[in-house]
Amino acid sequence: MGVIIGMNFPAAAKAEQLPQVLQTVTEDGFDALELNFGTFPLILGGEIQPDYLAYFKEQFSRFPLVYTGHMMYDLNFRTRENRERQLKILTSSIDICAELGMRTLTIHYEQRSPREEEEALFLESQQMAAEHAANRGVVLCLENIEVERYEHALATVKAVDHPYYRMNLDLGHLYLSTRYFGGDFITGVKECAPYLGHLHVNDNLGRFEPMRLEDFFVYRHTSPTLRIALGQGDIHIPPFWGKVPLAEAFDIIAASGYQGIFLCEYDNGRYVPFNRKIQERVRREVNAAMTRCGRTM
Ligand SMILES: [Zn+2]
Repeated sequence: MGVIIGMNFPAAAKAEQLPQVLQTVTEDGFDALELNFGTFPLILGGEIQPDYLAYFKEQFSRFPLVYTGHMMYDLNFRTRENRERQLKILTSSIDICAELGMRTLTIHYEQRSPREEEEALFLESQQMAAEHAANRGVVLCLENIEVERYEHALATVKAVDHPYYRMNLDLGHLYLSTRYFGGDFITGVKECAPYLGHLHVNDNLGRFEPMRLEDFFVYRHTSPTLRIALGQGDIHIPPFWGKVPLAEAFDIIAASGYQGIFLCEYDNGRYVPFNRKIQERVRREVNAAMTRCGRTM
């Protein structure tokens, strides 16, 4: 098949638009599609909602795309509050992936807690989930978030030490976090590359938005186009529209032998007229990186 270039499901799309979304993604030349389980009520009270699942299964089967999943946001695996139910959402998400033939499920690292007991709870949740994922043939991938040093997410992947528990390196997040907290983007890519199960490709201008840590509520309700205009924060613009050294990162990732998907996780609903061109550019750059390191895809 060659390299697999994917995009994420447009955040604003409605369930009834699924056939159209799948058609457009295919026509724009993408090979893969990632669905965030927070987009639709696929899980009800911890259990899979069977009508939703059947609908997605039927629609997905009509297109020759590779599918991947993304956990919903705002879960907290570092607290005992609602723990059983939150863990149930995690295992049900893994089950949805298995049902829909999704290869990977992304879960966010979020921010490291200064309290050891909370970190222990997080690690325990990941170990349990890795076992469940292995039983269902799904690879759970931990994503570095821009609010934290990537080293902590990487250390968790190493600590879980499980073939079905890998890292999802988000290159846009890595660029923002290394510029804000210190560290080096290229070093980060090199350190994470051997542990990759998935990859998020998106761009930004490398300016961290401190409001993200100080007041998440205000941050979330700031106009995204204002943030884009200011060039501030985790703006998820199309790959190669910003300053993240993506071509250099692709060289390292290609040379590491990475076999996974290059998932373009940008705010694609804002860039519909350009999505095909964006896909072609990413594919060209990945193929060039593969050629430079002697891999033929
Ligand atoms: Zn991401």
